Amino acid sequence: MSFKPMKPLPKKKQEVDLSKADTIKCKECENYLFISSFVIKRISALMSPTGQEALVPIQVYSCGNCGQVPTQFLEGSGLDTK
Ligand SMILES: [Zn+2]
Repeated sequence: MSFKPMKPLPKKKQEVDLSKADTIKCKECENYLFISSFVIKRISALMSPTGQEALVPIQVYSCGNCGQVPTQFLEGSGLDTK
């Protein structure tokens, strides 16, 4: 009885042409350069699975010009942009 170890399937290399991809722009000022920032959520001891207060950073990107954070980055953070 022979047992061949399964080889992992070769991953298909996907070439993505980024020049054809959408560029996210700031809705406020059309700027397309963003700075990575963090929204930090404080998990209270009651909500925390470990029973201890914890700080959880969520990475978002804010406009490098006006500081506006596109709403799509705020999904799941519980924050609203005006
Ligand atoms: Zn902006």
